Parts: sequence; structure tokens; C-alpha cells
Amino acid sequence: MTKPLYVQKFGGSSVADTECLRRVADRVALNVREGRNIVVVVSAMGKTTDRLIAMAREVHADHSDREYDQLLSTGEQITISLLAMALHHAGIDAVSMTGPQAGIQTDGVHTKAKITAINPERVRECLDLNKVVIVAGFQGLNPMQDVATLGRGGSDLTAVALAAALKADRCQIFTDVDGVYTADPRVVSKAQKLKEVACDEMLELASMGAKVLQSRSVEFAKKYGVELEVLTSFEVKPGTLVKEAAQMEDVLVRGVAADKNQAKVTLRGVEDTPGVAARLFTTVADADINVDVIVQNISSEGRTDISFTVPKDDMGKVKALLQKIEGVNFNEDLYDDNIAKVSLVGVGMRSHTGVASKVFSTLADMKVNIQMISTSEIRVSVVIEAGLADEATRALHTAFGLDQA
Ligand code: ADP
Ligand code: ASP
Ligand code: MG
Repeated sequence: MTKPLYVQKFGGSSVADTECLRRVADRVALNVREGRNIVVVVSAMGKTTDRLIAMAREVHADHSDREYDQLLSTGEQITISLLAMALHHAGIDAVSMTGPQAGIQTDGVHTKAKITAINPERVRECLDLNKVVIVAGFQGLNPMQDVATLGRGGSDLTAVALAAALKADRCQIFTDVDGVYTADPRVVSKAQKLKEVACDEMLELASMGAKVLQSRSVEFAKKYGVELEVLTSFEVKPGTLVKEAAQMEDVLVRGVAADKNQAKVTLRGVEDTPGVAARLFTTVADADINVDVIVQNISSEGRTDISFTVPKDDMGKVKALLQKIEGVNFNEDLYDDNIAKVSLVGVGMRSHTGVASKVFSTLADMKVNIQMISTSEIRVSVVIEAGLADEATRALHTAFGLDQA
């Protein structure tokens, strides 16, 4: 009989120091002794990635994306080798692999590469020899044979993609909270832990800033039918299951998420002729920059204002692009990175009205000015001043009855 295969991912805080690595090794060893095959995916230790990014900026503010990836990928490589040693110490046969060694291939976009294929033969061979395989998260090999990273939080994606490629029985994401909550439990003390969450809701929460799972990993899990489990690495207790069709009571709002990593770009007095928006947003998209909320005003005397949000890290790139964009004439460009996007998510919104108006009145009562609004079938988002985001998150959490008793 073949053994069940689990992919287990441990995030930065779960592998923050050598003592943490020993604890992870013991946990993996327990699983091996219970008769499972294990692939471990790890992140860089603690705040290593942040430190590497800061160093890159110190050396050259406009550093090359290729070298940035070359640098950042080293964080995860420290963890894999140390964890292999810790497992050897615990008497477990284990082998570490970088993303490229594990057969993870990506597209050519540095710093936020997409996984295009996985060749898991080498991983499988090692599993067949009863070895634990430890894979460096957040990286793969691009068509130029260079290492590419998968965007912040990308180790989650490595784990899900490997689970799909290896047809694993389970993909477990171990982190520093014991599951997915109705809001970030570090911001909302009354947030409730969810036993299960529907994939669609998790996807909206993750892409709206609930960083407990990287949004692309949830997208991938949905596409390939990988059932995800989020649980704490610090205790043995049940976490949250992310399921395609979760059996949950039908509530209007499942959770609140805040994204403080967005910046707002405003173009004043844009010449309003057909094709302007197409040229503007094609230019931005061609630079692989994700635009989120877009607002365009009614034009007056042939001119209009357009505002949109982009990831904070891409604001400099957008600024440079707008200086030389052709066929888009405007009077003034303004940049504001002191914003946050707060979102309410729930599949129940599909069949209910009045959610948006309640969001607006809750914020109005707090004298919070709403700068931008966007909605989907199962989400309402508002862009507000960054400093008010936590308070607004708590107020919305209470207003929509999410506080735990
Ligand atoms: P890791 O290093 O393990 O990948 P992350 O820091 O990326 O961990 O994600 C875990 C963090 O996500 C938690 O510490 C928590 O503050 C935050 N978080 C944000 N929203 C939520 C939520 N809805 N449920 C649980 N955690 C959340
Ligand atoms: N180390 C990377 C980051 O900090 C990837 C990850 O942890 O998932 O974003
Ligand atoms: Mg993470």
C-alpha cells in the first residue's frame, strides 16, 4: 500500500531561528513515524527577506530585478539546508532542494514570476526512497535558466503547486496563527476562527490583504482542486480548511481584510478621447503591474480625472512610465501611498442588498472619508487613509455582527 503524501509548508516565523527549526524537524519526524511521505516547503527564516530587500535598496535604489531575485532566493536556501540537518539530527533521512532542483519552472517575469510547470521526478524519486524532501519556497527557474521569485508570500504557492503536481493527499500551511479568522486577529481581538472557509471567499480575503495565504496560492488551489489546511506550527490543534464547497451556514459577511500595501495614482485633466484608458492601462499592464481599483470622473470640457491603485512597490515604476507614455495627455500626476483598502467579503452578498450602504454609513459615523469604492459580487472595498484602516476594520467587523461573544 502506498503511503499518504502530505505537503507541509512552514512560514518565516515558524522557522525564525535554529530552535524553531528543531521544533519543525520534530513535527515532521512525528509525521514520518506515523507512516506518511512528507514534502516540506519552507520560507526564509524570520524577517530575512525584508532584510535582504532593505540591503538591495541601500546598495542601489533602482536595482536590477534579476539580481533582486538572485539575492532573495538565498533566504529560503539557508532554511532548507539547516532543516535537512535538523532532520538528520532527529534521525530522519531528508534531502534539501532549491526550487530549480525540485523542477519548478516559471515564466520570465522577475520578482513576481508565475509557475508554468513542475517536473517533480527528482522529488518523487527521493520520496520513493523514503526521504523527506525539503523544498525552498518562493522560487523557480525561468526560461533564461535564471532563478526567479514568486512574489511576497510565494512559498504558499510553491506548496500548493507541489501538492497539485505530486497529487498529494493534503497541503498543510503552518503559520503563526491557528487558522483563518474573520479578520486579522492581531488587529481585531474579537475576530473568530473559521473551521472552514469557501475557496471563493478565501480568494477574495487573500487578494484583499489577508496575508495568511498568498492570493495566487488560493487561486492555484481552486484551479487544481487542492484542499488547503491552515494551522499553527506552535501547537498541535485543528486549523481551518479551505474547501471548494464549504458546508457553512450562509452568513452575509465572512470576513474583513485590509491591504496597506497599495498606493493611489491620480491623473488630473486627462484629455478624454476614445482609447486613452486603453493606452494608459495597457502600458501599465505590459510592465506587469497589477492595477486594482479604478475611478474615472465625468469629463468636463474634454478633460477628466482618473485615479487607480497599484502595489506600493510599483509606484516608482508607474511614475517613470507616465513620464514617457504616448497618446495620454494630462495636466498633473499625483501619488499617494498613505492609503489602505478595507474590504468586506462574503458569498451571502450575492443575494442580499444593503451591504455597501451599511459600510458607508459605518464609516461616515466614524468621520472616515472614502476616497475610492469598488465592488464585486461577493465583496465591497473602500480606499481610505492608511492610519484609519485598523479602526475601520474593527468598526466594520462589529457592525456586521462578526465579533465573537
Ligand atoms: P507566514 O510567515 O507563516 O507565511 P504570514 O505573516 O504571511 O505568515 O501570515 C500570517 C499572518 O497573517 C498572521 O500572523 C496574521 O497577522 C495575518 N492575517 C491577516 N489576516 C488574517 C486572517 N483573516 N486570519 C488569520 N491571519 C490573518
Ligand atoms: N520569504 C518570502 C517572503 O517573505 C516568501 C514567503 O515567505 O512566502 O515574502
Ligand atoms: Mg505568508
